[in-house]
Amino acid sequence: MKCGLSANRTVTVPGEGALDPPVLFVGEGPGAEEDRTGRPFVGAAGQYLETWLKPIGLTRSQCFIANCVKCRPPQNREPHPDEIGACLPYLERQIAAIKPRVICCLGRIAAQTLLGTTSSLGALRGKVHQRRGIPVVVTYHPSAVLRDKASLRKPVWEDLQLLQRLLTK
Ligand code: URA
Repeated sequence: MKCGLSANRTVTVPGEGALDPPVLFVGEGPGAEEDRTGRPFVGAAGQYLETWLKPIGLTRSQCFIANCVKCRPPQNREPHPDEIGACLPYLERQIAAIKPRVICCLGRIAAQTLLGTTSSLGALRGKVHQRRGIPVVVTYHPSAVLRDKASLRKPVWEDLQLLQRLLTK
């Protein structure tokens, strides 16, 4: 046991998807449905995320989907920095193994974790970052967009188009 989250979770949610994916999507951590099924992004946020893929020519099964922490934080709270730090080696190994062409960070926690920064999501989205030779784009977390579609749908669409441009390069 590397952190306290394992005490309250039902199952770990390691991530799933293609082993040679164009895109690795990285979220924050499992929610209730993920904790029940052991699969990432299968609840409301996941269903919404799937609607983002087709317009940019992707399917869920082509991609790999993972999270910063593999165990559900209690009451869906944000994972703490020590919990993220304890779990990061797993994500690092996943990235090294699947070598995605592009990484797409979903939300602030994934973006700050993978880019090693405390900058705000607003400052990080809309551009292409690099992480150990892999291009990284950042967009809002699907749960945040579900809560505020009116203001977040447009920037997300711009970010997805940026992602698509990277894939067709
Ligand atoms: N939110 C996340 O960040 N990850 C999931 O797997 C589900 C919801």
